[in-house]
Amino acid sequence: MYGRIALVSVNGDPSAVIGAEEAGGQNVYVREVGRHLASLGYEVDMFTRRIDKTQPEIVEEAPNCRTIRLAAGPLEFVRRDDLHTYIPHFIESLTPYVKRRGYTAIHTHYWHSGIVGLAMGDRFGVPVVHTYHSLGAIKYMNVAEVPPSAQLRLSGERRILEQADRVVATSPQEAEHMRSYVSHKGLIDIIPCGVDVSHFSRVDRAQARQELGFDENEKVVLYVGRFDKRKGIETLVRAVAQMSEPVRLVIGGGYTSDRGDGQEFERIRSIVDEVGIADRTRFAGRIDQADLPAYYTAADVCVVPSHYEPFGLVAIEAMACGTPVVASAVGGLCYSVVDGQTGLLVPPHDADRFAAAIGRIIANPNLRSELSRASVQRIHSHFTWAGVSRRLGRLFEHLAARKLKVRAASQSVA
Ligand code: UDP
Repeated sequence: MYGRIALVSVNGDPSAVIGAEEAGGQNVYVREVGRHLASLGYEVDMFTRRIDKTQPEIVEEAPNCRTIRLAAGPLEFVRRDDLHTYIPHFIESLTPYVKRRGYTAIHTHYWHSGIVGLAMGDRFGVPVVHTYHSLGAIKYMNVAEVPPSAQLRLSGERRILEQADRVVATSPQEAEHMRSYVSHKGLIDIIPCGVDVSHFSRVDRAQARQELGFDENEKVVLYVGRFDKRKGIETLVRAVAQMSEPVRLVIGGGYTSDRGDGQEFERIRSIVDEVGIADRTRFAGRIDQADLPAYYTAADVCVVPSHYEPFGLVAIEAMACGTPVVASAVGGLCYSVVDGQTGLLVPPHDADRFAAAIGRIIANPNLRSELSRASVQRIHSHFTWAGVSRRLGRLFEHLAARKLKVRAASQSVA
């Protein structure tokens, strides 16, 4: 018997277009887990904030899986750092659903949603599972400017770890960070992120190269992700500029001119000009998920140069397509990328070491094919959405059964 699951993602709309400001891994995670839980037999409601009056309030993502956009604050985009103001409004909009639908569990995403979840747990006794997607404590160590909402976030994140029925860390590294920087109390399970391996797999490389306009023999280095300083794109640009072998650099990711990602795009573009690689750099814009397997397959190396990365879906998508990854040795990347076996890990910010690692793979076809084979194998055994969703489903059932038992015991005592 499968029940109903609510996924709450105040700031990451699972039905949004992916690949621009504040629409990345969290949105993909919620959508994929929602769809896979539904295919296992659950009824899934994915709640997010409505940000535009032209957006439909309900989107059917898949059979038994829908996105529900709730009223919470103005009908416009609000930066993550300013969203906390609207948490009470979101709670009020969500309450009638939780009351009526009788969810087996609520799985919340990012700290605002965790606060919403705790309120639902208190009011209705529904089990609350939380995934952080990013930890304020680690993020603030890696950025120059800390927002005014920082204290609120840090104390919210502590309360969530201590009070949620379970927190899901997506890597052992994230679990360690929670223990060291958030709280020594609270229960943590480690369940990674996944890839839809029916979509992200190797396509015909020669055809992909031709379609994307790359020469057969040129070496292609790929970045995919949002334009955000913590993604470390600058390190990659500087690394490519100092490589002895000229390579083509492809940077994929969307941006909007008057927002933070537009400013970061301009900053990166001016560094590309300054270091003299404009003629071999292509800004591909936002790449549709449908086109990503061709980009990953066509590339010789995919680089994830983040200063901080809680998990990093791009790394496992590239690996699923058999493309070796050179990544910063930070956060979840240390878990997904096995140094020397499925890719290479180097210290963040270190352009010299990135250049050397990329150069090593490009110069050595045998190493590249070894890393490629091991990458695909690692993804299929550890990181599929089907496997991740089965594990989450078991966790939800376990917590719901435990709550029932506790309730029955307390009633019999009374
Ligand atoms: N993405 C995309 N098109 C782009 C850039 C990114 O579809 O042009 C997707 C990418 O495939 C991945 C997600 O956005 O699924 C980024 O997730 P990741 O965990 O790597 O980074 P985050 O955005 O969460 O920081």
